[in-house]
Amino acid sequence: MAKQTIRDIDLKGKKVLVRVDFNVPQDKKTGAISDDRRIRAALPTLQYILDQGASLILITHLGRPTGDPVADQPYRLDEVGRRLAELIGRPVVKVNDTVGPEARNAASQLKPGGIVLLENVRFNKGEKVPKIDPKTGKPDEQALALHREFAAALAALGEAYVNDAFGTCHRDEASMVALPEQFPPDCRAIGFLVEKELQILNDLLAAPKHPFVALMGGAKVSTKLGLIQNLLPRVDHLLIGGAMTYTFMLAQGRKTGASLVEPELVETAKSLLETAGAKIVLPKDVVVGKADDPSAGTQVIEFGQDIPDGWEGFDIGPATREHYAAIVRSAATVVWNGPMGRFEVKPFDEGTLAIAHALTECPGITAVGGGETAEAVEKLGAADKVSHVSTGGGAFLEALEGKQFNSLRVIPDR
Ligand code: ADP
Ligand code: MG
Repeated sequence: MAKQTIRDIDLKGKKVLVRVDFNVPQDKKTGAISDDRRIRAALPTLQYILDQGASLILITHLGRPTGDPVADQPYRLDEVGRRLAELIGRPVVKVNDTVGPEARNAASQLKPGGIVLLENVRFNKGEKVPKIDPKTGKPDEQALALHREFAAALAALGEAYVNDAFGTCHRDEASMVALPEQFPPDCRAIGFLVEKELQILNDLLAAPKHPFVALMGGAKVSTKLGLIQNLLPRVDHLLIGGAMTYTFMLAQGRKTGASLVEPELVETAKSLLETAGAKIVLPKDVVVGKADDPSAGTQVIEFGQDIPDGWEGFDIGPATREHYAAIVRSAATVVWNGPMGRFEVKPFDEGTLAIAHALTECPGITAVGGGETAEAVEKLGAADKVSHVSTGGGAFLEALEGKQFNSLRVIPDR
């Protein structure tokens, strides 16, 4: 069901609280923003709201503050505010608190077209989801009171709420769920970024065009099982790469040398292969190397063979690349999560590179998600040539697993 968007609600003259995801990567030493893609991704929503004669009160988190004011210094949003002002071409009033006197004062003085950026929302303890007391099975009362108080104090700053923070949609923090609940239904909406992410998820899960191909790689099978189980009934082919290859190799009775494996998942891998039939496509060959001895070079091992002792599987092999690329090129829908190999280390980026290239040649819908996968696609310069690179790593994966988010449940359907 499609959610109410900023096009559907009356924004004119309102002070609009927008939960954005400006959790940008920073240089560890200087604190400089190393990639402002997340800020740029929110601009169409922010501009649209301003164009309605409204003003903006922006809420975001940055990093994982600890609560220690000195250690948390790098998580202040001054740098983010400066970059936003540059990108949007208007002044941004960055305040040093979220619901304190500075924020309240700045919000009360907002005029149409004005922008206030609140300080890192995670500096406030009330932002957290109250922990469940194991004895009573209920949330800790004090924490719950703090959480509600914080949401109410945030709500008092504005007159409408917009969620454009897709990367945080899988979290139940105050600014994601309790805050929108403070507003009447006709004053809650999603922004364009969340709308686009949900549209793609719908294309993938509700009405995928066939052939539908899923590419799955990355470090572990265990973290991807939910994803595999939700996608298997929907896809025509599930192509396996990355380190999970070796757990499947074990399941077929092969030796895997020093490769990353999860022996406790061998039975699961076996039953997946039995139930999914030919839908699960395994590599034809893999590239092995020695992690601590690059001078040993690499070898290509066929999938039906054992990997020699001391050698570790780091990438899909050349025959696999060709095979997978051909399947991807002729697909109508492709979703990709998890690098095909240890792409951070050359030459083990070649499998991931070949697959990224194949995606750019596929005329269908091509969606990429997951922290490292998105990073790999960006690094290879393929981000603009696929239909969608999700801005939400964890949120994208949980949505693909079929999970429903509370942050979206509280936004009415249109
Ligand atoms: P994502 O963040 O996109 O969901 P994951 O976190 O599941 O992806 O996995 C990414 C990591 O998996 C990368 O750091 C990559 O180096 C690693 N990886 C992929 N293939 C292998 C392999 N064969 N051996 C070791 N690590 C691998
Ligand atoms: Mg990851």
